[in-house]
Amino acid sequence: MSDRIANILDGKALAKKIKLSLKDRIESIQSQVNRPPGLAVLMVGDNPASKVYVRNKEKSCGKLGINSYGRHFPSQTSFEEVKNAILELNQNPEVDGILVQLPLPEHLDSVALLNLIHPDKDVDGLHPLNLGRLVRGEEGLRSCTPAGVMRVLEEYEIECSGKNVVVVGRSILVGKPLALMLLAKNATLTIAHSRTQNLAGVTREADIVVAAAGKPNLISKEMIKVGATVIDVGINRIPNPEEEGKFRLVGDVDFESVAQSAGYITPVPGGIGPMTVAMLLENTVLSYQRRMGI
Ligand code: NAD
Repeated sequence: MSDRIANILDGKALAKKIKLSLKDRIESIQSQVNRPPGLAVLMVGDNPASKVYVRNKEKSCGKLGINSYGRHFPSQTSFEEVKNAILELNQNPEVDGILVQLPLPEHLDSVALLNLIHPDKDVDGLHPLNLGRLVRGEEGLRSCTPAGVMRVLEEYEIECSGKNVVVVGRSILVGKPLALMLLAKNATLTIAHSRTQNLAGVTREADIVVAAAGKPNLISKEMIKVGATVIDVGINRIPNPEEEGKFRLVGDVDFESVAQSAGYITPVPGGIGPMTVAMLLENTVLSYQRRMGI
């Protein structure tokens, strides 16, 4: 028997709902204009997790009626080659979104490549101009994972205003942009990271904890206030004790124990992962609408 009392924040179901509404939106726009939206996902090398993510993104595009212009380069591809592909896609009028799947092989400067993406096609929201717009509270394309977290909170009517919110992790991909989005919703914000002393003391004060550290079981029941909301962004591949040689995905939160006292919790898988893809597709459609003037 499970001792779970927490309500599940079902990112998978919400992502499905968002994708269905995007499909309708694309269909109705296409009755006015003569081309579908286009998304280019660029991948370099054979990182197995990246392959799965790219395949999922392209599959979702196909289901929604978004054309894929993706390219998969071998791991030894030069900076110049990837750069030229990005510059070509910037010019291609049928492409509304460009995403470089991270991580890139070590010999490629990912920041320099991300900065080459035209800001209007930067559907991952990582270009300095879009990050700057976020800092200033201006409209712009927002990073997908943090946007997915915010959408889950909104959907389940979990109030951020004035609440103590702790974000564990300060990466440019998740922690920092998420902190800015939470501030924009008037959260009283703490960012914890690898140098934080007494992490448990910090998280225990929080009404909402978002874990984005990439450390399995970092967040345990003792670190969470009873009734708090716990969002698990982490995706960690760990050996599966039940099947030798196989792996399973876990988050940063010890789900079974934390779910015994939290008020709301996201599962892994089925939480923020699918929301990240949904936000990417939404950004692509937003960019498409802006570019078509609709
Ligand atoms: P990262 O390695 O760039 O950053 C990790 C952050 O966590 C750092 O800021 C570090 O200071 C902090 N940290 C590490 N150990 C810590 C500890 N013991 N205590 C407190 N803070 C600690 O990682 P990232 O790119 O931000 O990703 C974080 C996690 O989220 C990873 O598991 C990644 O796979 C996952 N992720 C998931 C999605 C999704 O779609 N759900 C998207 C992006 C990243």
